[in-house]
Amino acid sequence: CGIIGILGTEDAAPRLIDGLRRLEYRGYDSAGIATLVDGKLDRRRAEGKLRNLEQEVFKHPLPGLLGIGHTRWATHGVANTTNAHPHMSDRVALVHNGIIENFRPLRAELEAKGFRFETDTDTEVIVYLLTDLLNQGLSPKAAMVQGMQRLEGAFAIAVLVTGEEGLLMGARRGSPLAVGYGDGEMYLGSDALALGPLTRRIAYLEEGDIAILTRDSAEILNEKGETVERRIQITELSG
Ligand code: GLU
Repeated sequence: CGIIGILGTEDAAPRLIDGLRRLEYRGYDSAGIATLVDGKLDRRRAEGKLRNLEQEVFKHPLPGLLGIGHTRWATHGVANTTNAHPHMSDRVALVHNGIIENFRPLRAELEAKGFRFETDTDTEVIVYLLTDLLNQGLSPKAAMVQGMQRLEGAFAIAVLVTGEEGLLMGARRGSPLAVGYGDGEMYLGSDALALGPLTRRIAYLEEGDIAILTRDSAEILNEKGETVERRIQITELSG
């Protein structure tokens, strides 16, 4: 039910959990974070309160400057650790808010290509959809544009790609997502509140928008993949 993404210059895990705490008010049944370390994706997830996720991260620390976090309000698949986000393949990790209405035909199509699903969520189709496009040789940006065109329903997502230490991507349709501009850092968040301690400079994505973020640049595309400008607002919220 809440998303945070940090492309930063210091340890992401505690900052991600802090952001998730600021999204707790939306309600959730489980939570998780993923980071990219030495080019590889790793994640920690837990059912129930954020405290459980924090304990998990304390027991098994998750280093990395680039990460995504999620509080889940289950719509497809029970609330357990397996179904908790982030979901990942060997190439992408992602978090999702909303519902993918056409996940059944997409899942059948991807299973026929040999992808093996681990969860009961609608979300997991996005993981293998993007993985399939990357395997075909598309750039991460092109995979996002093409991938989003296949999805029906409401979503906000944040995506990490294996080997891409300087890349954080997001997309939205129907669910809110904002880009936060930092000092040599870039962020994604469900709302300005989640990004409060990180930055006050926020651009809200519009329907169908895709954000391609590096530490010093933010490119926003519409659903056709054309570059668009979204106004940066200075929020009143403070840390
Ligand atoms: N539909 C997804 C799931 O059930 C995302 C739910 C959410 O918005 O947290 O896992």
